[in-house]
Amino acid sequence: MITGELSFIAYDTVCRVQASADDEVSVEKALQEIRQSALEVESTLSMYDKNSELSRMNCSYVVDVPYPISSLLLASLPYNLTIAKMTEGAFDPTIGPLVRLWDFLNDEPKVPDYSTIEQVLKRVGYQHIHLDQKRKTITFSQSNMILDPGASGKGFALGLALDLLRKNKISHGVIDYGGNLYVHGGKIQTGAPLITAIRDPQETNSILGTVPLVDKAIATSSWYEHYFTIEGKVYHHILDPRTGYPHNLELQSVSIISSAPLFTDLVSTAFFLVGFEKGESLIRLLKRTYEVDLEYVAVLSDGTLKVSSGAGFKPFKQDTGTMN
Ligand code: ADP
Ligand code: MG
Repeated sequence: MITGELSFIAYDTVCRVQASADDEVSVEKALQEIRQSALEVESTLSMYDKNSELSRMNCSYVVDVPYPISSLLLASLPYNLTIAKMTEGAFDPTIGPLVRLWDFLNDEPKVPDYSTIEQVLKRVGYQHIHLDQKRKTITFSQSNMILDPGASGKGFALGLALDLLRKNKISHGVIDYGGNLYVHGGKIQTGAPLITAIRDPQETNSILGTVPLVDKAIATSSWYEHYFTIEGKVYHHILDPRTGYPHNLELQSVSIISSAPLFTDLVSTAFFLVGFEKGESLIRLLKRTYEVDLEYVAVLSDGTLKVSSGAGFKPFKQDTGTMN
């Protein structure tokens, strides 16, 4: 068995790919194709690269005029819109103007004025966009909108990478796009599950527990990924499109486990936004609609742990909470 590895920077994070197969050519081909595909997704979907197709579209569309987009950009959008509808706009891929305003990647972030937030919120609303799959166009019914695929882009790229592992007959592989992880075929030789740790959102460098992964992805959404603190108050990067402020923390973190990588990324952010009860209902609805497997490990704001029965979660510390 030949194993190859590759690391590269994309989506403002380190991406790692490991692949094993019987022949070296397949391994090398898979790794190179995966890197190429990840970079293509980035150069199409990045809100931070002003030359990306998405940025060019955000700047140049005309209200009510269908705007032609590539198959790749088109493919990345429908589930975002479905989840926006299912969460009644708590999750909203048109959050871009608000994400820009808060600017969590800035070295000296500030809390924006309320009047500016109010102005910017007029440019947020998924109901103002319409996709035409047949004609491959998008139409905006509001000016100056900015699509932000930040909540699902890595999962989307991970799904394409998985297709390339399969196409190149890779028997075992691990793809990690900044914590969005997929384990293909389990451990090399044995195919046994790869045991993956979930971070404790309440204690940096501590582990909450582990989940076994074979042919499954995991993604976690939490306030601690990007935040700043002013006068003891935490401002984090998952924003409430109805108030314009960071979302009130009903959950500290939620990890989603599924064989469909796009869903892990999308649903972890959406679940985090709607809170535990609505998050569970969202999962039930998605399972019914798409026949997709979805499991969760959630930490509520008071530290209570909630785990779905199929997650295979094992708590790391005995005193971390209760398992359901
Ligand atoms: P990360 O990609 O940082 O690991 P997430 O997948 O949870 O974490 O995505 C967070 C990103 O989602 C934010 O940085 C922002 O770009 C975007 N976002 C923030 N609020 C919302 C929202 N209400 N709906 C959809 N996307 C959002
Ligand atoms: Mg996400």
